[in-house]
Amino acid sequence: MNKALKRTLSILLAALITLGVSIAASAAADPRAILASGGSFEAAFKNYSGEWAGGGMSPIKMRLQGDTLTFDYSPVFYFANAFAQGLLTEAEIAGIMDQCVAGFKRWEGVYQVYGRELTLTVDVHPGRTNNSLSASVKVLPKTILGFSGGDVMTLSGIMWKPYNPLPKMYLHTDYPKDIDFETLAMHEFGHVLGLFDAYGYGKILTAVGMDSLSWLGDWLLPEAPLERASSDAVMRGGGRDYISPTDIAMILWGCRNSRLQLYTESIATWLGAEISQAFFD
Ligand SMILES: [Zn+2]
Repeated sequence: MNKALKRTLSILLAALITLGVSIAASAAADPRAILASGGSFEAAFKNYSGEWAGGGMSPIKMRLQGDTLTFDYSPVFYFANAFAQGLLTEAEIAGIMDQCVAGFKRWEGVYQVYGRELTLTVDVHPGRTNNSLSASVKVLPKTILGFSGGDVMTLSGIMWKPYNPLPKMYLHTDYPKDIDFETLAMHEFGHVLGLFDAYGYGKILTAVGMDSLSWLGDWLLPEAPLERASSDAVMRGGGRDYISPTDIAMILWGCRNSRLQLYTESIATWLGAEISQAFFD
């Protein structure tokens, strides 16, 4: 072996040892142990100083101070051209924005997480744009499948990080039908906070008449078991609005680990998301 190669190998080995040591050090600081010994949620879950998020173009800042978690969200709304051309009045647009803000704020509350009280506050500062590129929330007339719904889960959603520019939220409507925008916005906000869906995609394909492809949906995302997400859990969608302490614990883990949190195993785990540690206690 020549000298240069030896040197390269020893540098590589040293790097591997350093990596091993740093992995061991971070594994030692288990948030649950910190909480159990009286530490705050901030001490347990903050993965670096200051804010988790808010860098660059991200419309959300997530702060953990003591036992208070704050989401400071500045969504910029864009209403699709069909609406701008007179389908909706300004008063109706303002009404939809109000319902969205109310949906985001329904995440507020006091939650018992790992036996400790965590206060969650959601501050929303909505804005509006006529430029779809600068929007963080797009309101569109309807989906290609013809039913009302929402979406954040593009590839960039699966690659979710708390400090990256977040994926755009799409909210669909076939207005003026009566659509419950509040629970729709509430569910999509869960994605913005780093949670995946709890409903199975096979069921969705069956519901739109694509039964023959339901196996593919179940492979992409099976339905979450009831013990992990109750039948009225907000991330099951369809107007369900129950937020559990487990959901909040998952958000804390997601921000700490910078990884989208799943309720079940799915193809998204291959892309870097993680089955939530909040379920393995
Ligand atoms: Zn969803």
